[in-house]
Amino acid sequence: MHPTSGRLRDLQAFFWLRGFPALNLKQSPCPPTVRWRKPLGGFAIITANDLCAIALISVCPREMIKMNQLLAVKTTKDIFPEYKDTPVGHLLEYHNLNRPFDTYTKAQLLIGMCMDNRKHLQIPDNFSFIIRSGGANLRYSEFKVSYAIAVGGVKSIALIGHSQCGMVNLIERKEVFIQGLVDNAGWQRELAEEHFVQFAPMFEIGNESGFVLSEAKRLRLRYPKIQVAPLLYQVEDNLLYLIQEN
Ligand SMILES: [Zn+2]
Repeated sequence: MHPTSGRLRDLQAFFWLRGFPALNLKQSPCPPTVRWRKPLGGFAIITANDLCAIALISVCPREMIKMNQLLAVKTTKDIFPEYKDTPVGHLLEYHNLNRPFDTYTKAQLLIGMCMDNRKHLQIPDNFSFIIRSGGANLRYSEFKVSYAIAVGGVKSIALIGHSQCGMVNLIERKEVFIQGLVDNAGWQRELAEEHFVQFAPMFEIGNESGFVLSEAKRLRLRYPKIQVAPLLYQVEDNLLYLIQEN
């Protein structure tokens, strides 16, 4: 196995998370520097420590735009038929439509949502398990998801991305991140840089609604008997939106 194959996988994951549907990576030795160039829908050249990867990316812009269509829920008629009278439908009714809270003694739903402080859901006590992680990314919370299903008995997952998510375009905040760890946490600059380069590709989501759509598809394959609903929380109006799937 090539010594850099792990890093190559990280890079592939990075592009895949950003929603690029097709990707080829070539690798070759290169100088020990760290440079990133943002992909612009054509070629991206990334140099990360010991790996020089040239990514040839083919993007279908129309497909990416279609992925992001949001649908408001202003009455119960706006809720997709497959979610009506399910825990997902009830979540939409509680949060958006002020449905009076029912009484629950056990969780009906697992909600995956971002750690962002601007979001607060209007839901009854005991209604839902909630896993909060950057960008509603449940890739690294699988045991907790499995627990909610296997032991908690939930049959539905609501995956809630949100507008203005900090996990979009992390590379733009690279310097702030590194300097913040140095100033606020007492880290050495070199370690902070390494930390960012190692983990930013894992946590970058690319596009809020596009990411929850792809994450919903992944979870449906992983847990085939579970209903998974991709939703978006707009921090501008604090309401939940359905995302049109194609
Ligand atoms: Zn977020």
